[in-house]
Amino acid sequence: MSRPQQILPEQILHDVFGYSSFRGPQAEIIADVMAGSDVLAIMPTGAGKSLCYQIPALARPGTGLVISPLIALMHDQVRALAANGVRAAALTSQEDRFAQDDILTRLRAGEIDLLYVAPERANLPGFQSQLDRVPLSLIAIDEAHCVSQWGHDFRPDYRQLKALCDRFPGVPRIALTATADEITRRDILDQLGIDPDHMVVAGFDRPNIRYEVHGKVEEKRQLKAFLESQDGCGIIYARTRDKVERTAEWLKGLGVNALPYHAGLDGRVRNANQAAFVKAEDMVMVATVAFGMGIDKPDVRFVAHMGLPDSIEHYYQETGRAGRDGDPAIAFMLYGAADIGRSRNQIEIAGGINEAKTRADHQRLNALVGFCETTGCRRIPLLTYFGEPAPEPCGNCDTCLTPPETRDATEAAQKLLSTVYRTGQRFGLGHLVSVLHGKRDERVERLGHDALSVFGIGTELDERGWRALSRQLVAADALRIDPEHGGLSLGPNARPMLKGEQSLTLRIEPERTRRTRVKRGT
Ligand code: ADP
Ligand code: ZN
Repeated sequence: MSRPQQILPEQILHDVFGYSSFRGPQAEIIADVMAGSDVLAIMPTGAGKSLCYQIPALARPGTGLVISPLIALMHDQVRALAANGVRAAALTSQEDRFAQDDILTRLRAGEIDLLYVAPERANLPGFQSQLDRVPLSLIAIDEAHCVSQWGHDFRPDYRQLKALCDRFPGVPRIALTATADEITRRDILDQLGIDPDHMVVAGFDRPNIRYEVHGKVEEKRQLKAFLESQDGCGIIYARTRDKVERTAEWLKGLGVNALPYHAGLDGRVRNANQAAFVKAEDMVMVATVAFGMGIDKPDVRFVAHMGLPDSIEHYYQETGRAGRDGDPAIAFMLYGAADIGRSRNQIEIAGGINEAKTRADHQRLNALVGFCETTGCRRIPLLTYFGEPAPEPCGNCDTCLTPPETRDATEAAQKLLSTVYRTGQRFGLGHLVSVLHGKRDERVERLGHDALSVFGIGTELDERGWRALSRQLVAADALRIDPEHGGLSLGPNARPMLKGEQSLTLRIEPERTRRTRVKRGT
């Protein structure tokens, strides 16, 4: 039997797609699939996942079957492939009977190189028996995180895809996704029967983005100082619509060219604001996370977060909108103890009785807070979170440029926890600091807190130091904070700290990070 001659992947890259070289992990992934292995490829959006299955599908004999969750995505891909002369088709509910029959006829005749279908169709017995009659070059499972119920896009039909793949032994399967934390990733490997040795994670680093994370002291003053050091366009993410509106108004009052964007705005206003931003050379968009998806603006110079994002993945995706042109850009975040408290509350409420989900969500939050509180290079927790090997310190994040001061704060932590406990676990940090500093103000006297054993025991830290410490204790879940009133109470991890079983290193940010303007290329 004569096999059709295999064409080299490099040749397809040049001749069909018109590119000169592979990017990041593409060559490695493609070689692995060409060798017949099953692969899980984890690469960020825009890194070039599609070629990882399109090229081997063309290089190997047979039709490549691509499972994709969204009809719109399928049609985009088919159009782009057709423009390059590739015989691609999408078999979806949008094609009428006649078009569907035509695709199946061409499929049987070996005239389709890539066939896109939704998982629901891929699982239909009728469709599968059609596939039995054609040689397959590979099965690609796009947006593979949909297989995991831990992820945010769980699609039950993805669960049956392993059975589909098993029906075609010897046909390599390649799963692709941009967003996958450790749990989701293991789930994908299990659910699709892929050997963990064939998982490739790469391309996440964005070297031109400078990461900067600061504890909230005075949010407005800090944000204003940051904006004064910036030129060009940027996005400020706020958590609520109300905060978006207020922040945009405040900025306009300061003479900043700012517009709001959130899902509560009239559709026409929203579109107009978005269009204005895309065209602008110097504008700040204040937005909820509803803003940014599918927006193609390469010259966003900064992305600022007022408060914690939802997870490291969200943070990465949102900050990833900065500096797509490759020129220097900044990811700036301000966060405080109340942000962590709010996130913990939301997890408890959303998780309900689903303990496993609650635990996984807390772990995600802890990873995010760990990134915020790190004393080392920011890229280490960021990239290792995505499964890449730890990089060398980058020299392009706040902690590399201005290392924070650290000191052992085990005793100070015990003092703060004791003060929280002795005052009845309901006061905010301001009052607790008064007690620790031994300040006899009106409230302290009225409550009789000057008579407590903890009165005046904590003069070694100033208010800023206590604030940083309390934030870290909230981060460690040794303190819980009422997100509305800021009242602090003991958390589940307070005990080992009070008993001296666990030590704590305090991270104190430099008073002021000296800012240099971001220098543009040329
Ligand atoms: P992803 O699916 O990972 O989000 P895509 O596959 O859509 O990314 O690729 C993003 C862009 O990068 C596309 O315009 C694609 O044509 C381009 N691209 C991919 N690989 C290469 C390459 N090796 N050289 C140049 N451009 C590439
Ligand atoms: Zn660094």
